[in-house]
Amino acid sequence: MKSSIVIVGAGPYGLSIAAHLTQWGLPFRIFGKKLDTWQSHMPAGMLLKSDGFASSLFDAENKGSLGDYCDHNDIDYHDTDTPVGLDLFNKYAKEFQRKFVPQLEERTVDSLDYADGGFLLTLDNGEMLRASAVIMAVGITHFDAIPEVLRNLAPSLRSHSYAHHDLGGFAGRDVTVVGGGSSAVDLATLLSEAQARVRLIHRGNHLRFFSEPKRGPRSLWQRLRHPSSGLGPGLRSWLCETFPSLFRFLPGNARLAIAKRHLGPKTAWIMKTRFAAGVEALLSQRVEWAVETDGRVELGLRHADGTQSVARTDHVIAATGYAVDLGRLGFMAPGLRSAIRTHANMPVLTGKFETSVRGLYFVGPAAVDSFGPLMRFMVGAKYAAPVVAKHVAAGFARSEKFHEALQS
Ligand SMILES: Cc1cc2nc3c(=O)[nH]c(=O)nc-3n(C[C@H](O)[C@H](O)[C@H](O)COP(=O)(O)OP(=O)(O)OC[C@H]3O[C@@H](n4cnc5c(N)ncnc54)[C@H](O)[C@@H]3O)c2cc1C
Repeated sequence: MKSSIVIVGAGPYGLSIAAHLTQWGLPFRIFGKKLDTWQSHMPAGMLLKSDGFASSLFDAENKGSLGDYCDHNDIDYHDTDTPVGLDLFNKYAKEFQRKFVPQLEERTVDSLDYADGGFLLTLDNGEMLRASAVIMAVGITHFDAIPEVLRNLAPSLRSHSYAHHDLGGFAGRDVTVVGGGSSAVDLATLLSEAQARVRLIHRGNHLRFFSEPKRGPRSLWQRLRHPSSGLGPGLRSWLCETFPSLFRFLPGNARLAIAKRHLGPKTAWIMKTRFAAGVEALLSQRVEWAVETDGRVELGLRHADGTQSVARTDHVIAATGYAVDLGRLGFMAPGLRSAIRTHANMPVLTGKFETSVRGLYFVGPAAVDSFGPLMRFMVGAKYAAPVVAKHVAAGFARSEKFHEALQS
């Protein structure tokens, strides 16, 4: 058991931090199923919400962008005008991992606890290791949110959108998607295109789509009014991308409100006609109860005008998003979890992404309360990766000097 730096998670954040540490020559280990969220938990055929230029992983020398990959492989690419397909993104990201993080170990961390001023981890093969720093890059893996009203249905009758990648098994079945965000609209559309009969239930009275981006150069006024950013054009998005380090100084309620509302439930413009062609949208309706009847599901719906109706379906999918809650990280020892200062169940982080437990870091969606909506998107790794890698590297250098001094 040797002490080292450990990264938990092999999504865009974990891999970007690993690429930085490799290029700086620091010893570390990284665990996780590579790009698991993207390969197994997003619907096949999906188009990314992020523009091409904001759909990259990051290495310290900026040599591994999606644009470079497309260039080398003669693949049609545009920073903003060509939507990026999930399949292309996965091929690119796997190539990034092979090139920059070949040492990835596709293991799950089964437990994480304190030990002797550092951390003790157990892997799914039984190996135990000590670490002086642990970077948690677990993404959305543990945080799927299923509404209370659907929870008592059998898992064969209800699932979360996180459970689905290949939608072929739903062909010919009646499926109900609950939710009104882009996950819900994308999934419902792709299910209908996979020959399922699909309805979508949303409590709001309309679905929100981005407007089609104007192609070609933008005028100076447009660029000032709606500056370009990795979160899409707009002053607020630009502020989120440019000043993530200031977000944690806002009052707690304001942080929560911004994280919830900014870039909330909008869907890519390109899905609008495809959605309308195949999905029945039940708007201004909420699910009040759900029961199993003869192997199917009955959903009691309450309409905004107070009337009620019942929908019958073979399967309900909650496309109701993700809610970060450290309490759901079952592999972290309760003592360690409770030592982490939190706000609204999310870790409170320093400007270097460190928790109140020294040496323990969180990046990605779990860092939203401290660094804002940028952290919900992979482009946030461009900011997070060098900050975390530098801080961890400095800590590592200090401990090496300390050990050398002890030995001399
Ligand atoms: C339907 C959908 C569409 C999206 N589209 C976009 C988009 O177009 N653009 C964009 O920027 N963002 C998009 N997002 C958000 C996206 O999920 C995040 O940007 C991104 O995945 C965050 O990267 P990450 O590295 O933090 O986490 P993830 O990609 O979720 O990776 C987490 C990693 O942690 C690993 N892990 C978890 N627990 C353990 C453990 N105990 N031991 C070992 N490994 C573990 C997992 O296996 C996985 O490898 C989308 C999300 C959804 C749900």
